[in-house]
Amino acid sequence: MVGGPRTGGGDGLNRLKNTIDAIHEAELRAGRPPGSVRLIAVSKMQPRERIEPVLESGHRVFGENRVQEAAGRWPEYRERFPDLALHLVGPLQTNKIRQALGLFDAIHSLDRPGLARKLARAIQVAGRSPELFVQVNTGEEPQKSGVAPADADGFIRECRSMDLPVTGLMVIPPVDEEPSLHFALLRKIAERNCLDRLSMGMSSDFDIAIAFGATHVRIGSAVFGERPLSLNDHP
Ligand SMILES: *Cc1c(COP(=O)(O)O)cnc(C)c1O
Repeated sequence: MVGGPRTGGGDGLNRLKNTIDAIHEAELRAGRPPGSVRLIAVSKMQPRERIEPVLESGHRVFGENRVQEAAGRWPEYRERFPDLALHLVGPLQTNKIRQALGLFDAIHSLDRPGLARKLARAIQVAGRSPELFVQVNTGEEPQKSGVAPADADGFIRECRSMDLPVTGLMVIPPVDEEPSLHFALLRKIAERNCLDRLSMGMSSDFDIAIAFGATHVRIGSAVFGERPLSLNDHP
């Protein structure tokens, strides 16, 4: 159904509106042009009842963190809303590359040489590439993916030598640390590598990320509400 908000969608649309307003305020405070920050609405684990009103309200940029979950619903949404853009914000296994290239307009998790090589080959075959962000593990956390800050310049160079069109960097700061230090470090690495896109900032810290130059904020719960523990566990 196309048209006005549906019953039950009102709450979700308020969250979306409040988030968009907060992004605009953060842009203003940072002295950045209005509209310079792109909102990626991260819909992972969210039920369709929350996603569809957001689509119908006109928002078009979404994020998922698992290829399989995205494959379950986004092909159908893309038929209904051909101008939508889908971003992969979670890890990419090499055996899912082909599927990911068919689903996503951007990949935020380019994080290792083995993936870069296979991705480069698959992109040559496909004849087109999604927008690519290199993920940097600024906190050097063992459980987190991403290249170490010290390896970032070399990895970016390696990606470019394979003709991978890297346009930006992505970070998920450690949960228990001041995010601004990590945002500042990401920006520094981007600047010295002439990359102008920064994927940083989530529900809890996007205003800080915008102050530090984020061009893409990845926001889930602030837009859709708290995530249910499983997809079948509808609120
Ligand atoms: C889930 C997720 C987000 C969104 O998190 P919220 O705290 O719900 O805003 C952003 N980035 C990545 C990589 C995620 O996995």
